[in-house]
Amino acid sequence: MTFLDFLEKFPTEEHIIQHFINIRYAGNVTCNHCGSDEVVRRKDKKKVFRCASCRNDFSIFKDTMFEDTYTNLRKWIYALHLFINGKKGISALQLQREIKGSYKTSWRMLRKIREAMGNKGDVSAQFLSIVEMDETYVGGKPRKGNKKNGQPQEKHKRGRGTSKIPVIGVVSRNSQQVHARVALPNKEGKKLTGKQLMAVLDEVVHKSAVVMTDEFTGYDFLRKKGKHVHLKVDHTKEYAQGIIHTNNIESFWATLKRGIYGIYHHVSAQHLQKYVNEFCFRYNNRNTNMMDLVLFQSIYK
Ligand SMILES: [Zn+2]
Repeated sequence: MTFLDFLEKFPTEEHIIQHFINIRYAGNVTCNHCGSDEVVRRKDKKKVFRCASCRNDFSIFKDTMFEDTYTNLRKWIYALHLFINGKKGISALQLQREIKGSYKTSWRMLRKIREAMGNKGDVSAQFLSIVEMDETYVGGKPRKGNKKNGQPQEKHKRGRGTSKIPVIGVVSRNSQQVHARVALPNKEGKKLTGKQLMAVLDEVVHKSAVVMTDEFTGYDFLRKKGKHVHLKVDHTKEYAQGIIHTNNIESFWATLKRGIYGIYHHVSAQHLQKYVNEFCFRYNNRNTNMMDLVLFQSIYK
């Protein structure tokens, strides 16, 4: 959606309310308490309906990301538009400039949108046939004098064995979907274990799938377990050996890191999964109407 499309589609708050009613109630508002469709919109409060059956008032935004908001809905939708369409996301500071609100409001809006993005899980079906698995290491402050275009330079050792936070990811070549999990420090220290890698694989990958990884010895567990056919590419020898490569997951990591270092600058381990979900959402839904999907996922009950 371009900015002009946005203006045309949502010229007033009422257009947004109607759009949301279509998404949440398929066009016909029913009572949040008893389910009756005998409801009347209140004239004094535009977002509130009164139920003729149970006599309760309810807001169409109850249990959604718009609950308790005083921010104009057009600002919300515009924020959503910017957040979704920016490949790397948008910072609270950038959003504040765009919508002319307070920093705190922008920050809260982004947090809520990000929550909605991660609300329904990141993949719609199991990964079949060929999957690529890899890990990356995120975090730590960019080192001084080691920046290029505002991004920290990749370390040659790719972070393995450093204090950065590992993120484990799988891409399905078939469905072009990604699934990624932050691996928080385990009992064995910060080293990634086969168990952690396997757990991520088990969440989304069908047991018949062929798994492609790089030469990292952590993936040797795959052969030992015998659950999957495992093919390795040795990056020290060549970049890719025919179909044996991990290019898709590596390009996802590149986007994730550009976003985290370039837009968000620093993300703590505790919150990293939410940002990872944001980038998974954009990647997995790049061919769908992301705006409507976020609105739909922002309904929590
Ligand atoms: Zn009712």
